[in-house]
Amino acid sequence: MEKQDLLSMTPPELEEFLAGQPKFRAKQLFDWLHVKKETEFSRMSNLPKSLISLLEERAELVFLKQRKKLVSQIDGTVKYLFELPDGEWVESVVMQYEHGRSICISTQVGCKMGCSFCASTKAGFVRNLRPSEILAQIYAAQTDLGERIGHVVLMGIGEPLDNYDNVLRFLELVSAEQGNNLSLRNLSLSTCGLVDRIYDLAEKRLGLTLSVSLHAPNDRIRNQTMPVSLRWPMEELLEACRYYMEKTGRRVSFEYALIRGFNDSEEAALELAARLKGMLCHVNLIPVNEIRETDYRKSEKKQVADFQALLLKKGVNTTVRRTLGSDISAACGQLRRETINEEE
Ligand code: SAH
Repeated sequence: MEKQDLLSMTPPELEEFLAGQPKFRAKQLFDWLHVKKETEFSRMSNLPKSLISLLEERAELVFLKQRKKLVSQIDGTVKYLFELPDGEWVESVVMQYEHGRSICISTQVGCKMGCSFCASTKAGFVRNLRPSEILAQIYAAQTDLGERIGHVVLMGIGEPLDNYDNVLRFLELVSAEQGNNLSLRNLSLSTCGLVDRIYDLAEKRLGLTLSVSLHAPNDRIRNQTMPVSLRWPMEELLEACRYYMEKTGRRVSFEYALIRGFNDSEEAALELAARLKGMLCHVNLIPVNEIRETDYRKSEKKQVADFQALLLKKGVNTTVRRTLGSDISAACGQLRRETINEEE
């Protein structure tokens, strides 16, 4: 019999799993899992021994082993390489901001999307993460740091909307009031632009921030780096974003990685501004992270500043992302890649 993944269960599902036990047991168990973040049944001291044996026999407690932990000497950014129960690895990064700690987590092992600048996709796709495995990254980091992490971004390895059902369940669990109780206002989900799923997500009106990886002002440039753009042209993507804004009242964030001589010209900035005109949005500029597999180079500082200034002049709210953890290859996907390469 396959063991049941308790950490992926909602409170009603736990109740059903514990059918025959007093009702409050499900609450106690949920509290052990999602408030105390306990990773061993034997330490759940208010449960009767008989129930603990039953759980050990029939259920699985998903938790992640720390395979590597790197701490940036520059800004305290912490990067984890976590091992999943089946031996696969994912990365999570904890950043320190003025408003507190924020964690960037993975949703898949590898990625299918094939963006040419991204380390996460280079070795292909292995599998989706279960809801428990997405959650456990936050829980493991909180336990390790001894501190609550109040902000979460789904911007690690994988495409969250390509693992839609598990990600939605994760959102329900991470925000459960009787559990981890994260406000979804403090969570961002980043997507390369799976348009059909953006519409689905809009209908849920969850209050999270949608962050869309644009990286280009038009399809001609976008098609060269992001295969998803061949399936959903930019106009359809922007239409879906407008719909998301209308439905949820939340502004959308656009990610734009600046690649020297490719998408960082004055012309590109003006074209981007024209296309985003009138949208309730925010543009986040990121000088591209240089990864081993490509010869893309970051834009010069001045080019970044000029690009931002042009967007601002055209009325588009724009910031430049601070580079954190540059000494520990904090951009997601790189640590897993490097470790796989080391062991090959
Ligand atoms: N699949 C999702 C989330 C994971 S990637 C997405 O595409 O949005 C998180 C962000 O990092 C995305 O904006 C992605 O385009 C960006 N990214 C990937 N590789 C990068 C690199 N080398 N430099 C800068 N940003 C990169």
